[in-house]
Amino acid sequence: METANGTAGAATKINAGDAVLRVLEAWGVPRIYGMPGGSFDSMMNAIHNEKDRIDFIQVRHEEGGALAAAAEAKLTGRIGVCFGSSGPGAVHLLNGLYDAREDGVPMLALVGEVPQEFMNIDFFQAMDEEPMFADVAVFNRTATNAQGLPVLVDEAIRRAYKYNGVSVITIPKDLAWADIDDLPVATARNFRKPLPTPPHQDLIEEAVKLIESAKAPLLYFGMGAKGAHDELIEMSEKYKMPLTSTFPGKGIVEDGYPAYLQSAGRVATKTATEAQYMCDLMLWVGSDNPFGSKFVAPYTKIIQIDIDGAKLGKRFQPEVSVAIQADAKLALRAIIEAGSEQEAKPYYRGCLKSKQNWDEWIDSFKNDERTPLRPEPIFNIINEQMEDDDIFIPDVGNVDINFLRLAKIKPSNKWCVSGKHATMGFAVPGALAAKLEYPDSTVYSLSGDGGFAMLSEEILAQLKYHAPVINVVFSNQTLGFIEAEQLDDSHQPLSGVDLPDTDWAKVAEGYGALGFTVRTLDDARKAFAEARKADKASVIDVKLTGERPFDTRYMCFPETCKDPEQIKEFQDRLEAAPLKSLAYWIE
Ligand code: FAD
Repeated sequence: METANGTAGAATKINAGDAVLRVLEAWGVPRIYGMPGGSFDSMMNAIHNEKDRIDFIQVRHEEGGALAAAAEAKLTGRIGVCFGSSGPGAVHLLNGLYDAREDGVPMLALVGEVPQEFMNIDFFQAMDEEPMFADVAVFNRTATNAQGLPVLVDEAIRRAYKYNGVSVITIPKDLAWADIDDLPVATARNFRKPLPTPPHQDLIEEAVKLIESAKAPLLYFGMGAKGAHDELIEMSEKYKMPLTSTFPGKGIVEDGYPAYLQSAGRVATKTATEAQYMCDLMLWVGSDNPFGSKFVAPYTKIIQIDIDGAKLGKRFQPEVSVAIQADAKLALRAIIEAGSEQEAKPYYRGCLKSKQNWDEWIDSFKNDERTPLRPEPIFNIINEQMEDDDIFIPDVGNVDINFLRLAKIKPSNKWCVSGKHATMGFAVPGALAAKLEYPDSTVYSLSGDGGFAMLSEEILAQLKYHAPVINVVFSNQTLGFIEAEQLDDSHQPLSGVDLPDTDWAKVAEGYGALGFTVRTLDDARKAFAEARKADKASVIDVKLTGERPFDTRYMCFPETCKDPEQIKEFQDRLEAAPLKSLAYWIE
């Protein structure tokens, strides 16, 4: 018989659901996250039949499954796979699918549907699923025949990889029960990712001229520069450019590198924010940060490198000076080779001193015993224990600010976040995925008490699958990130941000995990040491100060602020007297 992909048939039969699982296996999918439901039973039968080839991870909420699959894709670069049954299961998936879409990672969602005879007649849990997924998906189809079902799933995977996006295949229950001809379907072995685009030499020369003639050149990079660690360092050393990155770009260059100032904005350091405002030329590499141009002065000249031509100039008005459509690594290598070594200019030397001053200020709190605890001593313990392969999954909120500034990681330490979708609840399911994928690494989820409450039930999955994640909850009874927005940005009364005091250690014990309550530095040392040794999931509930983190958008230094009262208030509230502005450090 002739199949949808035109191959000649064979007589042996296979169940259509099993054939779908074989396609996933051929594409190297090791596991699939989801929660069974009636309309997905035929596929659950296949998951049972294929259990020796692909692991089924039973999550306790489909959103947790979708977020775990998204985190897996972010950490590995491989497609993440999740599923939900028709109706509520499908609806629950959506948030995790949006997370994958926003951070541009490949994802496949298999969605259950009632048997065909009950479709479109207002049946129990039946809904028209295609319109619901139309916005989030790059490929979104309902299977219409059993023989074509595995072929459709194969196509869905190709599209997800091609567009770095989400494919959704809706499977009417009866189709996955049917027996079909067992034909070769998966095309994984022939699939190729696009080759890295080389840059045009004339644009490289234009870029070099601008870099060499700038007084204060800076290199800003994002996730598109992930494979370009050595080129970033060489650029910095040859042209004497400080490096800043997007928040997700943390870790591409080691935090300890003296010219890497981390990220600017709100999840930011003082040094990076000031350096970006004061540079006169920014080499912007592999970033699509929606806020990026807000943290650059309007007179700054921009050279942009991006593999996607549609991203060039997107975040700037009216235009960038030199727009280079190319792979970051190739373009940076070409720039390195085309120019000559530069002398360190006052701006570069000032940035290095400013970073040192910032690091010393942060270090001055690292053994602070005051209670409720500050974040610095907690991250100091994490840093002291850190191994090169430790993995971190921060949630969304003030924990991002603290993780960015205080965790001292290297390129070998993997981590990921819900970057653009910025959904709370990412950390616990994300850490489940990380521990399943990298069982020999110590994996931390880092949440506030807001985000932790959202999907902490996935600790049950961590326990079920023997994934001893260390789940840290920084609890201070407030949605701190939003509290700061209400106070500092919109100057409104605090509204709806307070959270009840909760005993998260007891909640953990109720789940069957280890629970630790940390009120003092001593408690913290003991809890982290025990959790690292433990062979099951743990929760460390750190009772944290409610003090707002240093906000780099509202800094007050004598060199930049005229009002002595404001300077004093800033220095007193943040104990920031030892901190000097970048202007102070530039000779
Ligand atoms: P992406 O958006 O994924 O962009 C990557 C770019 O690289 C794309 O344009 C792509 O086309 C390109 N690319 C891909 N491959 C290549 C290649 N080989 N060569 C060249 N180009 C390539 N971030 C901050 O920086 N500051 C903040 O203050 C901040 N606040 C945040 C607050 C919260 C609560 C959260 C959760 C996140 C925050 N973020 C912040 C993160 C921010 O929202 C975005 O996630 C982030 O800026 C996007 O990072 P990116 O540009 O590196 O990655």
